[in-house]
This record gives sequence, structure tokens and C-alpha cells, in this order.
Amino acid sequence: MPVLVMKFGGTSVADLARVRNAAEKVKREVERGYDVIVVVSAMSGKTNELVGWVEQTSPLFDAREYDAVVSSGENVTAGLMALTLQEMDVPARSWQGWQVPLKTSSAHSAARIEAIPRANIDQKFAEGMKVAVVAGFQGISSEGRITTLGRGGSDTTAVAFAAAFDAVRCDIYTDVDGVYTTDPRIEDKARKLDRIAFEEMLELASLGAKVLQTRSVELAMRYKVKLRVLSSFEDTDENSGTLVCDEEDIVEQNVVSGVAYSRDEAKMTLISVADRPGIAAAIFGPLAKAGVNVDMIVQNISEEGRTDMTFSCPVNQVARAREAMNKTKDAGEVNFRELVADTDVAKVSVVGIGMRSHAGVASTMFDALAAEGINIRVITTSEIKISVLIDRKYMELAVQALHDAFGLENAA
Ligand code: ASP
Ligand code: MG
Repeated sequence: MPVLVMKFGGTSVADLARVRNAAEKVKREVERGYDVIVVVSAMSGKTNELVGWVEQTSPLFDAREYDAVVSSGENVTAGLMALTLQEMDVPARSWQGWQVPLKTSSAHSAARIEAIPRANIDQKFAEGMKVAVVAGFQGISSEGRITTLGRGGSDTTAVAFAAAFDAVRCDIYTDVDGVYTTDPRIEDKARKLDRIAFEEMLELASLGAKVLQTRSVELAMRYKVKLRVLSSFEDTDENSGTLVCDEEDIVEQNVVSGVAYSRDEAKMTLISVADRPGIAAAIFGPLAKAGVNVDMIVQNISEEGRTDMTFSCPVNQVARAREAMNKTKDAGEVNFRELVADTDVAKVSVVGIGMRSHAGVASTMFDALAAEGINIRVITTSEIKISVLIDRKYMELAVQALHDAFGLENAA
């Protein structure tokens, strides 16, 4: 039998009525002839509650026990989904991560999937089970402890199962009906895309379009898993939602597919550092060690052997970055005059694989921002993305202006 993976996020299993609604969708796919692997999240809000309990119990918590606690939300929904399916006469069985076993690294709270042996689940399918309901987000380390895959990790569980079982597709059911050209809450002309390329989705996911965990898109791209995002609150068929797929499967490619933003950025500038070989390593090594997620980097032209180095990072990591830099200064490794933090900036990006073959995207972008009087503070580009750092108060305006400039209200 062909295998289909169906993943239901927290809002799609938020209460028993919704679990039942999701189970009906699963039953329909079984009737179409699939063996189904259902991956479930915890009921919405549950994981946050569990994380809160851990933090209240122990400020410097043991990550192994954190995983023991926060993985439990998925156990509940997996069991309830299996029970609901059984009530509908669909032969179903639940599987916790360790029962599969979904083997992971020992990096608690951010474990990587290492292997998903098929034998146990395949045997049950062979015996007539039609649905394997798998608790998302969790696995087991080689030490035999429960692990979790990082917040949003159920998406990654689903894609990994789709790859391991050669599934025809991995359907991600959520509370939105697909991937949009931008956030519809900011731009009401935002359009749902029928298709988007893996690489574009990766850029959008990492830029904060929170539909899919970034890691899940990376996995899907590597194993060429057809990934679909669709709503669990609507009637859906084979053409619903947005298909995240190989760029070769997209016939009419837009030059720009989407406008993404990240609201809570900070711009940090180290004023007057020595311009010498190794200076970037001396700065960004300690920042990485301190867990600062540096994104954009700009080094100014130097004057008399000294230069300014600017980087961006999430605004809640500013204190950590400052501490790391002051330490390197005290240790005599990097000598800077001042570290200036601007915490009122946001990042806006346009993304599209069509940029590879079309000139002029950057100038269209800069013209549109200029026409609104928005000052650009930092620019970075990659093959399929142009990002700018601007004052946060202009973020919405910038998103709308760029959506217009690239004609995305007509995108499909
Ligand atoms: N329940 C976990 C979380 O909220 C995993 C997931 O839903 O993907 O992060
Ligand atoms: Mg999610």
C-alpha cells in the first residue's frame, strides 16, 4: 500500500471535537487506499504550559527532565487520536518516539533525528493496522533517554517519517490554508501560493514565516519529500493548500515569491576595531560560543588600519552579545572603542528563485522603499534573497510597498 503522512498541529487537535475532525480526514485517506502515518502535536498551549512548569520548578533545569516533561503533551494526543480512529472502525495504534524507535542524538531539547527503523510499524501495517499515530517532537537517545527535537519539531518528525517510509506526500495540517506571499495580517492583498520551491520556503521559514519548522524543510529538500501545507478547518482535496516542492515542478515561476519580515532585530556596531587578518574570527567566534545568532554582517572600509564591524542579531540576544564582546576586550583579543546597539530595527526580505535569472530585483526593491521615504540601514543579498534592515516603525509599510512593487497580489 502507498503510504501517506498526515501531520496535525496543536490547533488542529486542540480539543476532542478537533481530534475527531482530524480523524475524519485520516479516515477519508484510508478509504482512498493509503496506509497512513499520522503525526500529532500536543494540544495547542500544552507545550508552553509544560515548559512553564519546568521553568518554575527549576531555573537551571536538567535538560533530560525537561524533555521527559515537555514530550508528554504529544503522548496524550497520539493516544486520543488512536482511540478516536478506533471508534470510527479504523484500525489504528499509537506510537511514542521510543516505541518506533525514533533514534536521535543526545542533544536534549534540540536533538537531531538519526534513524527511523521501519520494521515495527511495517509489521503492524502487514497485520492490518491502517493508521500508525506517532507522537511528534520526540525520540530516544542512544543512552535510552527521551529527547525532543526543538520547538515546532513535529513538522520535522512528519517529514522524517515521510522520507523513511517513501511516502507519496507529507501533508501538514494547520490553522492556515497554505503559504502566503506575505503575512495577511500585514498586507490584506497577500495571496496563497499554489506551489513554492523548497529553497524559497527555507528562506521564508528561517525568516520567521512560522508555518513550518526550518529543519523540516531542510529534510524535505534533502530527501525530495513532497510537502503540502493545508488547513484542517476546511474541506480539502488533492489540490488544496500549498505544495512545497522541487523548483523543477514549478512551471510558472514568479521572480519574487514572497516578502518576509522579522520584527525583533537589533543592529550592533563595534566601533573602531583593528583591521587585521583574523579580526572577524576573533569577533564572531566568541559570539557563536555565547549562542548569539548573528545574521547580517557588514565591515566598513578601513581608515588608518581601523574599521567598524556591524552585525544583526535577535533583540533578546543583545545583552549576551555585549557580554561576549566585553569579555574579548578584557582578554585583549578584540580592541574596540565602543559597542553601539540599535534595538529598534526590523528586517524585511524579498525571496524568489527567479532572481537567479532576472536582473533588477534589487533596484525595484530599493526604489519602492525610497518612494516611501524608508531609510535602509544594512543590505545583504544571497542568490535568492535580498534583505534590508530598517527602522521597526516602518516595517509594515515596507512589507506593503514591496508586495505592491513586485505585483504579488497577482501571484499564484
Ligand atoms: N508541541 C511542540 C511545540 O509546541 C512540537 C510541535 O508542535 O511541533 O513546540
Ligand atoms: Mg508548528
